[in-house]
Amino acid sequence: MGLGLPTDAAGWRARARAFTAERVAPIAAEIDRRDRVPDELLPPLAESGFLGLGIPRSWDGSAGDARSVSAVLDELARGSAAVAVLVSVHLAVCAHPILEWGTEVQRERFLRPLARGERIGAFALTEPGAGSDSAALTTRYSRAADGFELRGTKMFTSNGVSAGTLLVFATRDPSLGHRGISAFIVPPGSPGFSVAQRLDKLGLRGSETCELVLDGVRLPSESLLGPEGSGLKVALGALTAGRVGIASCALGVAESAFAALRGAAQRSREEWMRIAVAEAFVELAAARALVERAAERKDAGAPYASEAAVAKLFAARAAVSIAGRGVDVAGPEGVRAGAAAERLYRDARVFPIVEGTTEIQALVLARELLGREPSENP
Ligand SMILES: Cc1cc2nc3c(=O)[nH]c(=O)nc-3n(C[C@H](O)[C@H](O)[C@H](O)COP(=O)(O)OP(=O)(O)OC[C@H]3O[C@@H](n4cnc5c(N)ncnc54)[C@H](O)[C@@H]3O)c2cc1C
Repeated sequence: MGLGLPTDAAGWRARARAFTAERVAPIAAEIDRRDRVPDELLPPLAESGFLGLGIPRSWDGSAGDARSVSAVLDELARGSAAVAVLVSVHLAVCAHPILEWGTEVQRERFLRPLARGERIGAFALTEPGAGSDSAALTTRYSRAADGFELRGTKMFTSNGVSAGTLLVFATRDPSLGHRGISAFIVPPGSPGFSVAQRLDKLGLRGSETCELVLDGVRLPSESLLGPEGSGLKVALGALTAGRVGIASCALGVAESAFAALRGAAQRSREEWMRIAVAEAFVELAAARALVERAAERKDAGAPYASEAAVAKLFAARAAVSIAGRGVDVAGPEGVRAGAAAERLYRDARVFPIVEGTTEIQALVLARELLGREPSENP
């Protein structure tokens, strides 16, 4: 890997645009209908270097900065939101945290196959009773001979069926709050690990959303990612990057919806359609600027949690709004099952929830603007 790969975001965008036109857009409707990203798409995704983005070549990655990651996700999502979300989760909340927090041994064993795209990554934080308030998770870990034992249930894990490597968050004792949480690298073949169900969804169909059961999963001591008790820090850092990723995916859906809207308005003489296109353009331009700003801050090594929250909040909202206008303009055809406008709208509607809801993004921003609430954990 390495020879012939782009060296800047514009190059990565061009590569992803060509890939999407050839391999993703033609099967997008089928991915949605069958609720499956075909296995055959994974080797070309890996060969393209997309599954190793943001990971140094020395770890078998394809290099590239946050702007490159964002550009690739935007382009893939213009073809299929499910494919883009698969890549975003794999990179931002699994491979990149292992790069950041992993020991040399963990990087050797887990990061290399992720960077080469031989394994897909997943991130299991949310539980049936703990989502927005992730410090309330109840999956327990205990010390066992030569390692740890994990017991609990995880909910809404993206890439949960296909994952070859998962980051799983568990607490030593729920009464310790965020200080009790640690991150573990879990290979799914471990005894006691199972996928209890794959959830059927409104949108992002094709992206696997799963319930996972950890029934006494035994892990060697080198499975702990980062220092014991720093799991929430690992998770929140991953989610900040993940929000730029999901914002980029939402932007791609908004771009596709805008292109369809504009095409319909060009064929029509209706003034209200012209206004809809102009309004949508403003939303799209603002979303694009906010996503770029968050990625630029990350590349500059500056704090970017509030920029990521703003980008995620606004891009998700813009995708819903523009895709909604697309349904309006398409009229009755736009609500028929299988219509492109209908799929884009269903996909867009999931973005305000995934990787932290709109309300949680607003609270992240409010903390920046107003300081912590007295009741908040430090
Ligand atoms: C398609 C999909 C993929 C996902 N993938 C993953 C994944 O890969 N890994 C993973 O760990 N999780 C994943 N999630 C879970 C997702 O991050 C959570 O659903 C989300 O964080 C919300 O948590 P929750 O479901 O528990 O909802 P809740 O936290 O119960 O929220 C319900 C509602 O209450 C609001 N709310 C909650 N707390 C507050 C508050 N303090 N102030 C104001 N409003 C509040 C929320 O905004 C929301 O509107 C995924 C979810 C979806 C839908």
